[in-house]
Amino acid sequence: MRKNVVAGNWKMNKTLQEGVALATELKEALAGVEVKCGVVVAPPLTHVASVVEAVKGSVIGVSAQNCAEKEKGAYTGEVSAEMIQSTGAGFVILGHSERREYYGETSEIIKNKIQLVLANGLTPIVCFGEVLAQREAEKHFDVVKSQVQEAMFDFSAADFGKMILAYEPVWAIGTGKTASADQAQEIHAFVRGIVAEKYGKQVADDCTILYGGSCNPANAKELFSNPDVDGGLIGGASLKAADFMAIIQAF
Ligand code: PEP
Repeated sequence: MRKNVVAGNWKMNKTLQEGVALATELKEALAGVEVKCGVVVAPPLTHVASVVEAVKGSVIGVSAQNCAEKEKGAYTGEVSAEMIQSTGAGFVILGHSERREYYGETSEIIKNKIQLVLANGLTPIVCFGEVLAQREAEKHFDVVKSQVQEAMFDFSAADFGKMILAYEPVWAIGTGKTASADQAQEIHAFVRGIVAEKYGKQVADDCTILYGGSCNPANAKELFSNPDVDGGLIGGASLKAADFMAIIQAF
């Protein structure tokens, strides 16, 4: 069954102590509150194990923001999916536009990472989305289709069903410009359509597709009210417990 999810991508923000404090504040804010969606936080890798510890006993799941493309070995500075799994985290964000743009991540690399994440029993949150020039040239459907196909369609239906998808128009990330509810719905429905063509209607119906890009307490309700928007991947607004709570409570 399809699940609504609100996931916070902290990016490269917060010291270890600040991150644990934010996670603890969130845990306390969520205690005793009726939560109608899955809640995930993605702290920097150095904080993941401590945040797992801090949120124990709560509904909060913990995600890494990336993992290595290799299984193990002489790859200085890299952190494997297995290592992430060993911290108690349950998710890994993959293919974020910042990884694609600044670190040269291709669909092939993202696909390899998805494979490793799944092999270690973790849930990949796989991002895709067009840049402004592509939207202005009305190429956004083509771009999104190839990104989804190239990174996510070489898997069995069972494995695809374990992924969370996140549509993140790059022009809306960290810019304060949000896709309108209609723009988000249009692409989400399109993505669900191509998933249905590839894996069938049931897999498509069950697939969680998040929206990301300047989602905040003021626009979350309208975005999430779309039939094909199953929650959000939240950057800036996940750094304050009150804002993130308000987005969670938009469901
Ligand atoms: C993100 O980076 O995934 C994101 C959606 O950022 P923001 O909410 O800050 O636009």
